[in-house]
Amino acid sequence: MKHLFFGGIHPKYNKEMSKTIPELRTIEPGCVVIPMSQHIGAPCVPLVKVGDRVKKGQKIGDGEGLCVPVHASVSGVVRAIEPRPHVKGAPVNAVVIENDFKNESVTMPIPGNDDEILHAIREAGIVGMGGAAFPGNVKALGAMGNVDTLIANGCECEPYITADDTLLRTSPKPVLEGMSLLRRLLDSKRTVLAVEDNKTEAIAELKKLLPEYPHIELAILPTRYPQGSEKQLIQAVTGRQVPPGQLPVKVGCAVFNVSTFAAICRAVTEGRALTERIVTVSGEAIAQPQNFIVPIGTSFHDLIEIAGGLHDKTERVISGGPMMGVAQSDLSVPVVKATNSVLCLLRDVNGAAENPVCLRCGKCVTVCPMRLQPLYMYRFTNAGRVDELNRMNLMDCMECGCCAFTCPGKLPLVETFRKGKQMVREAQKK
Ligand code: SF4
Ligand code: SF4
Repeated sequence: MKHLFFGGIHPKYNKEMSKTIPELRTIEPGCVVIPMSQHIGAPCVPLVKVGDRVKKGQKIGDGEGLCVPVHASVSGVVRAIEPRPHVKGAPVNAVVIENDFKNESVTMPIPGNDDEILHAIREAGIVGMGGAAFPGNVKALGAMGNVDTLIANGCECEPYITADDTLLRTSPKPVLEGMSLLRRLLDSKRTVLAVEDNKTEAIAELKKLLPEYPHIELAILPTRYPQGSEKQLIQAVTGRQVPPGQLPVKVGCAVFNVSTFAAICRAVTEGRALTERIVTVSGEAIAQPQNFIVPIGTSFHDLIEIAGGLHDKTERVISGGPMMGVAQSDLSVPVVKATNSVLCLLRDVNGAAENPVCLRCGKCVTVCPMRLQPLYMYRFTNAGRVDELNRMNLMDCMECGCCAFTCPGKLPLVETFRKGKQMVREAQKK
């Protein structure tokens, strides 16, 4: 039985665009820039120095606490260690490696018991690859013995992006193996692979393999944005609602992206660190939209060139999707572990009007999947009313953009909520 979630929208998905070139090419950049911070938590400290020779898969940065290591994604020579532009905004310390194209690599020991598996997930530098970038070993440890349902998130509900779809179409086995592995580790009773019904080829490939995995259910969900958000997906699959401010474990669920499961499988069964991922390069402003296997650290500029270059009238380049992605002003930024898409647009699909006016139509309220009141949150942010913002649960806003997409007044809602959240945080500090 499918349980629908509240709100949501049906934007134009434009997914076919990046599926017209079916071959999945592997990129070989001349140089990679590996940021020391690619996850939620403490940044890594470099373990190499300028002039060192490194091999693909070699650990080049690590740290303590909530931290996972980073690895060289090509073999070559370390040319610099310095702050470099990052997709999240401020520059981040990074190791710059010149590729020698020898493709020399190292692997990690294959783990034997559960402790070693958790350690291998950490040592491979695995983070949530759907965008959250939370350390995979910490999430798995928190879920062990505390969840009854393990969900693989293959919804990929943002328009244009087909990276997970491509993984499921071309290489579904590591996803299913990773799920089986984590299912045993977490001792989950129910294991579900959730995809939206617009992924017909991926569903066909999965159905061929699933008889070998009788413990895995395939949940084919009606396409709706933002189904891929953790809380909405849990509700769609189980009917359970994660309370405001709580984590999925509170309702007995753990959700990992399908790419994360594949990375876990490769780490545990082949000793391979997370050094590459599938990235969608798409949008009306790119000459040849398609998916690539991309070494972490490849610049957006290199990817765009390989995809045929940008249209003269390109309005913006986004890391991620048009709804929740981050616009980039510097195309030297590198692909990081959570980069699923480089989106090149001729116009900003969620652009605000020059003189936005709230029409009090209430449409934003009907589409908000978190059951918030965007029109009042907008008004109270602009009035600086932090007490009211707290009462409105502004911090539960996941910045999905459904309200802005629907708003006929073209109010800059999400942008305003980001400011409002900053005001709440500052007030909390005081
Ligand atoms: S959808 Fe836009 S115009 Fe309508 S009430 Fe909400 S903020 Fe105002
Ligand atoms: S951006 Fe925030 S307020 Fe707007 S629909 Fe999404 S969760 Fe609701």
